[in-house]
Amino acid sequence: MSSKTGHKQPSRWFSPSLAGMCLRYAVMDMLRFGRSLDPVSLQAMHEGSRRHRQFQQELMQQQPYVAIEQSIRHEELRVSGRIDAVVRVEGELQAIEFKTVNGERFAQIGQMGPLFAHVAQLALYLELTGYRLGCLIVENRETDERREYYFRPDADFGHWLRQRIAAATASALARRLPEREISLGCRWCDRWQRCFTTEEQRDQMIADHPLFEPNPAFMSMPAAVSR
Ligand code: SF4
Repeated sequence: MSSKTGHKQPSRWFSPSLAGMCLRYAVMDMLRFGRSLDPVSLQAMHEGSRRHRQFQQELMQQQPYVAIEQSIRHEELRVSGRIDAVVRVEGELQAIEFKTVNGERFAQIGQMGPLFAHVAQLALYLELTGYRLGCLIVENRETDERREYYFRPDADFGHWLRQRIAAATASALARRLPEREISLGCRWCDRWQRCFTTEEQRDQMIADHPLFEPNPAFMSMPAAVSR
């Protein structure tokens, strides 16, 4: 399902937070499509922002740091964003990405490992900066518990990310939405009304195709490593 957009504003550059998302969603974001946010989602976003600032304050007080909110920009790929924090660990620069989730998601991460979108964002930072270590910190908004995952750069995954960003940027510049990449994630997507006419249709299509199968396919997600 491809469609022209009627939006006139220039497209945004690719935000690293879109790295692990459905390509169609990423392009909608670049073309500034609105989002359908319910009060619960808005509250979670505000709480996430508050905890984010709190985490950065803690980090500044507890350990030497290289940068907080380090700007990242890649002209060729048209990527622009900010890394939550950069620290030096045993001589190596380490990018830190801090995320908050609800209790249910936190339990799921404990069983299945970190969310693909979170890992992809951190992997993109490593790909574009050349830093040799990334740390993903996930905090439970309901209990304050945290989990930490460490990653090294992964050349294959980095190549996949570059392909995806190039495809998203080409679509955004042409003002054309890519095909849907239907998966379970559509259930929580705040732009799902741009892809399905009713909730029933959406849920049926998710049931028929629950797994995220991006185009191009990737071989594997970077594995968390012990530091
Ligand atoms: S509803 Fe699904 S296919 Fe559509 S933008 Fe959201 S995640 Fe992508």
